[in-house]
Amino acid sequence: MSVLVYVEHADGKLKKTALEVVSYAKAIADQLNTSLSAVSIGSIADEELAALGKFGASKVLSVNDEKFNSFNEQAYSTALFEAAKQEGAKLIILSNSFRGKAIAPRISIKLKAGLVVGAVGLPSFTGNRFTVTRGSFSGKAFSDVEIHSDYKVISLSPNSYPAQEKGTQEATVEHFTPAVDKSIFGIKVTEVIKSTDKVSLPEAEIVVSGGRGLKGPENWNLIEELADVLGAATACSKPVSDAGWRPHEEHVGQTGITISPELYIAVGISGAIQHVAGISSSKIIVAINKDAEAPIFKIADYGIVGDAFEIVPKLTEALKSFKSKR
Ligand code: FAD
Repeated sequence: MSVLVYVEHADGKLKKTALEVVSYAKAIADQLNTSLSAVSIGSIADEELAALGKFGASKVLSVNDEKFNSFNEQAYSTALFEAAKQEGAKLIILSNSFRGKAIAPRISIKLKAGLVVGAVGLPSFTGNRFTVTRGSFSGKAFSDVEIHSDYKVISLSPNSYPAQEKGTQEATVEHFTPAVDKSIFGIKVTEVIKSTDKVSLPEAEIVVSGGRGLKGPENWNLIEELADVLGAATACSKPVSDAGWRPHEEHVGQTGITISPELYIAVGISGAIQHVAGISSSKIIVAINKDAEAPIFKIADYGIVGDAFEIVPKLTEALKSFKSKR
């Protein structure tokens, strides 16, 4: 069973999730004693893709065609299907990102494959059993899912498996032209306007998040300055985005984005169950809240009871001074 991984890139650079999925797929390919190939879709330099060799891919198929430069889930899943056929791959791995969420079910249908969405660890193999652990019930539980089909598709939750450089070997890059029907390109994206150049929230290792305790949008400089010094992404609770204090794409929780950063700092957030559903798989949670009884402290690894308007500027200054001495 050879392994094929779909790698994402933006602005000519591989995304962090690409390195994570290749490292994850390499660990599986080693266990299965098989080879690992990657597929990249859209224009990107061969040298950038060759670097995937260091993370364990021996070959990269590059669909380096302008037609694929704007994301089109039908075209991308067809290209991935064609690549799987060419490589004889039976296990397909991709990130459970915005794109991965759109492609994974489509490629599963094409391959008649069992699909595990949002895997959080390596599969285990016992006898004929192929079992993958995934998060369930908005991160409140884990499920062990067995895949019985011949073809298998796994989408890996961002930040749940570390990118691991294995050596210095470069991957061979082959240009690949999948047979994709012209009719699939019936929609054309004419312009992409980025709302921000900041760290992407789903991929961020550190997230600073603000809630209603910040009183209003005029106080968000507190969150942004702390995030800047930490190189973090910013997030918020639902009422904050509902009130228009912050954009909706920053809203984390049951009805927003689910994230798993290394460090989540919750400022003026009560820790309602619906909020916690989206952040509970963070590795370390720090809460700053003036109410010692706030539920967020039940799940926090570190808590500061006090006024965010006093604590956050002090924390930001302390971090700035710490960084300047290093
Ligand atoms: P609050 O609950 O008002 O808490 C504000 C906190 O700030 C309090 O704990 C207070 O002690 C503290 N505070 C006040 N002043 C200060 C200060 N000066 N310094 C420090 N701390 C201070 N919510 C989400 O976030 N994400 C979701 O996805 C989501 N989905 C939902 C889905 C459904 C179906 C429902 C019913 C609700 C959902 N909610 C969601 C809403 C959720 O139930 C809570 O209402 C919401 O999370 C509360 O947001 P908050 O913590 O910012 O505000």
